[in-house]
Amino acid sequence: SLTIGIVGLPNVGKSTLFNALTKNDVLAANYPFATIEPNVGVVGVPDPRLQKLAEIFGSQRILPATVDFVDIAGIVRGASEGEGLGNKFLANIRESDAICQVIRAFKDENVVHVDGKVSPKDDIETINTELILADLQTIEKVLPRLQKESRIKKDVAPKAKAVEEAKEILEKGDTLFSQGIVQGSERAELLHDLHLLTTKPFLYVFNVDEDELVDEDFKNEQRALVAPAEAIFLNAKLEAELAELDEEEALELLQSVGQDEPGLATLARVGFQTLGLQTYLTAGPKESRAWTIKKGATAPEAAGVIHTDFQKGFIKAEVISFDDLVEAGSVAEARARGKARMEGKDYVMQDGDVVEFRFNV
Ligand code: GDP
Repeated sequence: SLTIGIVGLPNVGKSTLFNALTKNDVLAANYPFATIEPNVGVVGVPDPRLQKLAEIFGSQRILPATVDFVDIAGIVRGASEGEGLGNKFLANIRESDAICQVIRAFKDENVVHVDGKVSPKDDIETINTELILADLQTIEKVLPRLQKESRIKKDVAPKAKAVEEAKEILEKGDTLFSQGIVQGSERAELLHDLHLLTTKPFLYVFNVDEDELVDEDFKNEQRALVAPAEAIFLNAKLEAELAELDEEEALELLQSVGQDEPGLATLARVGFQTLGLQTYLTAGPKESRAWTIKKGATAPEAAGVIHTDFQKGFIKAEVISFDDLVEAGSVAEARARGKARMEGKDYVMQDGDVVEFRFNV
């Protein structure tokens, strides 16, 4: 499955956040015998539709979609020079499908800042500089050969040109992602086999003091710093506390600081979107469940997420949109109202589709 790597300078609250994430590990809760890697936190993507489906179908349990967060320790200035930890760090980032930067905004004299002062803007720049330098190194290794080849082989020219363009952007101090060259896009396609770090989608977690959680001016300033990436504001210590409480107590604590959901829930939801993912839903007496697919997946591809046999033997999918199903109150009534559609192998899945697959075994 796709993963989001958590990076950040030392002492910004990564461990605190990651511990809170692992306390919410849905894998641990739902699959007691699963092997859980110490540096991976599997977090459920909150989806109130599942609760509703569970009511309609009398489901025994709810299984949300999940996002895997990987704790990537140890970014330091000079990481791109590839010394010791630096190398391992870059390799770990390369394996992630998106990058979540944790940025310190909280003020606390007892927690030393590596650069002596709390400045989200400077910290973002420090981290981005390391990633940009690493990408420039990668490019400098391949560009001379590409340029030479492109003089002989016409079909290499577009790639050489794309790499030159990327180099220019990076030399200006910009990430490729911020200039629209992001994994999955047409512009990034030619760069694919370089595995550049800054073509990964980024998101930012600002670890803030409680008063900043509700400070819209402050938040807008930070949002402007990181756009087009998403910014999430949370207090890591508070998240750790929330993870210890039952639902009611947690809600009370959240409301006392002006929030209506835990920051981790927001993080899971935004992370899921950042990865370019989407869900469809299945429901029955056993469980109501959200399944993860890539945006644009077809019905057979979606079936394959449940079981490869479902994809191989795919005949059709009976699809009811979530809203229609809730309005009808049952599958039978939705069918009676003509709201159940039979979709074939070319159907592109839509968000909120409640699906039952028909297949040959
Ligand atoms: P890491 O080095 O980025 O993993 O940072 P840690 O999670 O180990 O946190 C460093 C220190 O900052 C610890 O003493 C934490 O208790 C403290 N800390 C983490 N988050 C917060 C926060 O939101 N507010 C305050 N005041 N301290 C925090």
